[in-house]
Amino acid sequence: MNLHEYQAKELLAKYGIGIPAGHAALSVEEAIEGAKKLPGPLYVVKAQIHAGGRGKGKFKELGPDGKGGVRLSKSIDEVETNAKEMLGNTLVTVQTGEAGKQVNRLYVTDGVDIAEEYYLSLLVDRASGRVAMIVSTEGGMDIEEVAHSTPEKITTITIDPAQGFMPHHGRAVAFALKLEGDLNKQAAKLAKQLYTAFMDLDCEMLEINPLVETKDGQLLVLDTKMSVDGNALYRHADVEAMRDETEEDPMEVEASKYDLAYIKLDGNIGCMVNGAGLAMATMDIIKLNGAFPANFLDVGGGANKEKVTAAFKIILSDPAVEGILVNIFGGIMKCDVIADGIVAAAKDVNLSVPLVVRLEGTNVEKGKEILENSGLPIVSANDLGDAAQKIVAEVKKVA
Ligand code: ADP
Ligand code: MG
Repeated sequence: MNLHEYQAKELLAKYGIGIPAGHAALSVEEAIEGAKKLPGPLYVVKAQIHAGGRGKGKFKELGPDGKGGVRLSKSIDEVETNAKEMLGNTLVTVQTGEAGKQVNRLYVTDGVDIAEEYYLSLLVDRASGRVAMIVSTEGGMDIEEVAHSTPEKITTITIDPAQGFMPHHGRAVAFALKLEGDLNKQAAKLAKQLYTAFMDLDCEMLEINPLVETKDGQLLVLDTKMSVDGNALYRHADVEAMRDETEEDPMEVEASKYDLAYIKLDGNIGCMVNGAGLAMATMDIIKLNGAFPANFLDVGGGANKEKVTAAFKIILSDPAVEGILVNIFGGIMKCDVIADGIVAAAKDVNLSVPLVVRLEGTNVEKGKEILENSGLPIVSANDLGDAAQKIVAEVKKVA
């Protein structure tokens, strides 16, 4: 689950990490209120969306000459003007895609006198099975570009979670940032605080870009992106409450309510499968037969009628879907129970596109009988290859 910048900063502040003062705002009035609580005279109004590159982004409504999503403001009046121009409008950045994202929240924060911009991020590195800290003196810009053109300017430090963060890790971070004296000490301390926060909050990724050195010698987190492991949210009610569903795909939000693993894709064949491996295989074989899956959908082991119905509704709410392939292995669940669920769900949602069902496993004959006697135009398939061929043919027939 991704967090907004202001939410991540709120969490990080609890670890003693240096962050400029700031206030979230949902309206122009709140933005003005927030600014009044800050010392001034320099304020920064920042669009809060789940995407980076806001500074260089453009608002659709303001055209190519309009200012971006991070705006220095020299007075409360300027904060007001900027807030008015940003709220409700659509910000397009390199990370949002062409559609952009509507700005519904702002963050009004202290303007900082920046001497240097650095880069620091933490992530779970599967290759080493450790937490990796990625550090670079080249902050504030596109880190992918730095990695591509000047990879020597990026240092990776890995931390064994069993051993934990050791003083030498902190020294390595400070050294990689080429900091000396008090700033060197600040960097080592900050690295430890960030690691502690990362582990405590079950983060998947925590990126500080830029981490800044101010003209008066402080290291501050100026921008941050945080993403936490959705499977660990039960341990963090406060973090879970920060979820902003308006930033997520509405169908994926709906799916998560029924504990369905759903990811929207670009094709026209809706898939309903149990088990991630079988779902992947089903998608592959659809492609092999010349069509493309409209989604990944794993209904999980205990697929009951409610789940199957919810899954059908989610698949059908995607206007690109021209046919559905159900591929379920009845191991724990018996095939006749699944067939009952499919028939009931298909009636419930007034199925309007061809449906091919492949069942395998316990009571498969009984299951097929139920599908046949349902009076619905369900095409039964015998194996994975047969199922894929049939749904591709059915969709072509209609088209
Ligand atoms: P994004 O990465 O989405 O573009 P950032 O928060 O990193 O957004 O802002 C982009 C740039 O704007 C920063 O690299 C920094 O130069 C400047 N900036 C951001 N916040 C402040 C601030 N509080 N004070 C001064 N400059 C800022
Ligand atoms: Mg940034």
